[in-house]
Amino acid sequence: MQNDSLEITTAKSIAASSIDEQANSLIQLSKDIWNHPESGFRERRTAKKTAEFMKLSGLETRENVAMTGVIAKLDTGRPGPHIAIMGELDSLIVPEHRVADAKTGAAHVCGHNIQIGNMLAAAVGLSNPAVLAKLNGSISFMAVPAEEYIEIEYREKLRDSGEIEFLSGKQEFIRLGELENVDISLLTHAEPSGEPALRPGTSHNGMIAKSVRFLGRSAHAGGAPHLGINALNAANLAMQGIALQRETFKEEDKIRIHPIITRGGAAVSSVPANVTMEMFIRAASIQGMKDAEIKVDQALRAGAMAIGATVEISTSPGYMPSKFCEELNQTYDHAAVELVGESGSGRMPHRTSSTDMGDVSMIMPTMQSYVGGASGRTHSNEFEITDWGLDVIVAGKALAFTAISLLANEAKHGQKIVEQFDAPMTVPQYLETLRGFRRNESWSG
Ligand SMILES: [Zn+2]
Ligand SMILES: [Zn+2]
Repeated sequence: MQNDSLEITTAKSIAASSIDEQANSLIQLSKDIWNHPESGFRERRTAKKTAEFMKLSGLETRENVAMTGVIAKLDTGRPGPHIAIMGELDSLIVPEHRVADAKTGAAHVCGHNIQIGNMLAAAVGLSNPAVLAKLNGSISFMAVPAEEYIEIEYREKLRDSGEIEFLSGKQEFIRLGELENVDISLLTHAEPSGEPALRPGTSHNGMIAKSVRFLGRSAHAGGAPHLGINALNAANLAMQGIALQRETFKEEDKIRIHPIITRGGAAVSSVPANVTMEMFIRAASIQGMKDAEIKVDQALRAGAMAIGATVEISTSPGYMPSKFCEELNQTYDHAAVELVGESGSGRMPHRTSSTDMGDVSMIMPTMQSYVGGASGRTHSNEFEITDWGLDVIVAGKALAFTAISLLANEAKHGQKIVEQFDAPMTVPQYLETLRGFRRNESWSG
């Protein structure tokens, strides 16, 4: 690892002291967001608090971007790459969590509240004029809505009323052109390892979402089942079909398919005539997603055929597979080693979960790092933030240090990463791919 120039060392130490001076208010805000969780495209309060903090730090904000997003831009006035430091505004919904919202069940069991904290910490460090004076290019701080792919019905209504087209915040940012002049994206996610670690991710599965309805015919379940068509049995057979396809999935595609039945019937004495399911199909590559989807659709039709039911399949694009930029990861490693030592640095291996940072990674060099100050299973009632200083302050410094390494010395390092990056897709290709996943099918057995 190369030693930093004097310019970079000085900028880092000024940024770190600025962040330390604001440590209390940064942690307080992150705890306030933890205590007031809001799910995707509903994060009004969280957005307002985020914008207030940005304004207090002297930044100009743009609000209501893709409904609830907030953006503040720092421009050095000198040429160089434009970096986006992102934080996600939304919570999940896990009503059993101890601080779940009593009305909505929303809870920050993915720790996105600390992302807002560490993004703002980086903003505090980088907006110090003595730091900014040493940099080229610009940095935008982006509080982005709706990363968790949930409440699909609500979001489909937003889509149908024209408020959004895609169901996630970063997808909407791309569609709206908010990332058009951005060259590099950075984000730090919480990770329940409990270790003092800052480890960039390698890759994630992408996914497709399906909502499925089996339509049969109701009849007396005891007296005259021969007059009915059992839609629940059709759904059961479809799930068997999917399960029996598992042996055909290639190891390298890392397929995960997890259907749920959201409505299994109306009354036990009546043959189920209207059964609904939702499922995600996840894979490590777009081709893997498409291959698995063909088999899932076959199984869904087969369930309908065997029972004589009808199946309606509504397919929506989920997220693109993530491919994070190794050169950016190495730049971040440099900051990680400085802040938490060799033992806390390294790589997070491939993950079979999905994120819309994957969508961003299709069009520009992207890094998603994981900070270890949490405990309990992610997305569960046991998830807790255990080390606020690590997740907000240290992680914020790591983002600021990385931006400094990229933009100091006339932004030579950042510029090199941007020039060498071979984007898997252009923005129009990305939008076309995403739209290509959307379709509705009705099939009668
Ligand atoms: Zn999550
Ligand atoms: Zn998350």
